[in-house]
Formats: sequence, structure tokens, C-alpha cells
Amino acid sequence: MHKAVEKILVSEEQIKERCAALGQEITNDYQKTGRIPYVVALLRGSVPFLAELVKHIDLDISFDFMDVSSYEGTESIGDIKINKDLECSVKGLSILLVEDIVDTGRTLKAVTKMLKNKGANDVKVVSLLDKPSRRTVDIEADYVGFEIPNEFVIGFGLDFDQKFRNLPYVGVLKKAFYQ
Ligand code: 5GP
Repeated sequence: MHKAVEKILVSEEQIKERCAALGQEITNDYQKTGRIPYVVALLRGSVPFLAELVKHIDLDISFDFMDVSSYEGTESIGDIKINKDLECSVKGLSILLVEDIVDTGRTLKAVTKMLKNKGANDVKVVSLLDKPSRRTVDIEADYVGFEIPNEFVIGFGLDFDQKFRNLPYVGVLKKAFYQ
């Protein structure tokens, strides 16, 4: 275990198993609708999750990336800054948005709203982690890997100061690292 980690919350094995199950569920759900999702991953935290998940989605998907950040000092959920936009138009597409973690829900709410405004047919969300106790806006992911308590976590895409994204598990960051 890395010295910055207090305890492991979700092991590498659990992540792999859950991604296989989620991939299967997503495949079945979209097969029922007859639509193929355009998979949109939010940089940078969702990259390891995306890589593991898409191996288990048995549909001819394409994927693309967006990088967004919230404007500092604003409480408005509509205000996100797009640092990197999608390569193609989302008009008429079924979007499957891939997130690392849903915390307050503000990012998700803003990105979902923006994609719908741009003409997406429908937007579903898959998130590796969910911290329901932290939610401040009314939004839920359609697919969740793991519900976790209100702890600051790192690993499998999640960073502290841009580090620890490469850890193969999700762990709680030792308080000594940020206090
Ligand atoms: P939200 O808009 O839901 O409040 O925030 C989502 C973003 O906050 C995530 O994509 C992630 O970048 C960051 N975040 C929220 N909780 C954690 C956490 O426990 N650890 C890390 N590393 N990032 C987090």
C-alpha cells in the first residue's frame, strides 16, 4: 500500500469485478433500446475507469473526452468552463457520460444540462464512485460502481495535487498529506 494511503476502500479486484458487471448491465440496457452510446469521459479522473469499463461493453461504441472545470467563486450550477470540448456534435446522440466520482453533483448537473442543450437525444451517467452524503444538487448517476462514505479518496484516476491517479485501487488519503 502506498504511504499516502490511510486504508484501501475499494481493491483492484473489486474494481475489475464491478466494471465487468457494469459493462454487462450497460450492454443489456442499450441493446433493449437499440441505440449505441457515444461514450464521453471527463478528464482526467475517469480515464482508468473508462479503460476498464469499455472492455466489458459489448456494443460498437465510440468514445470522446471533455475537460471541464467550475468557475471559481460561483455557486451557479450552469457555470462550467470547458477546457477541452468534444470532437464532434452530439446532436441526436445517446450519451453515456463517464465520471470518476459524484460528490456535490454540480459537475454532473452542469455537463448533463450542457449536452442536452447541444441537442443530445439522451444522457446517462456511469460513475465509479458516489458520495451520496455530499450531494447539494438533485442528480443521480444511472450506474454507480461503489457508494463510499464522506472521505477524500485517491487512486484509480482520483488525484491529490495531480498525483496518485495511477494507484490500482481507491484509498483514503492520509490527513497528514493535506493538513
Ligand atoms: P462535484 O461536482 O460532484 O462536487 O465534484 C466532482 C469532482 O470533484 C470529481 O470529478 C473529482 O474531480 C472531485 N472530487 C470529489 N470528491 C473527491 C475525492 O474524494 N477525491 C478526489 N481526488 N477528487 C474528488
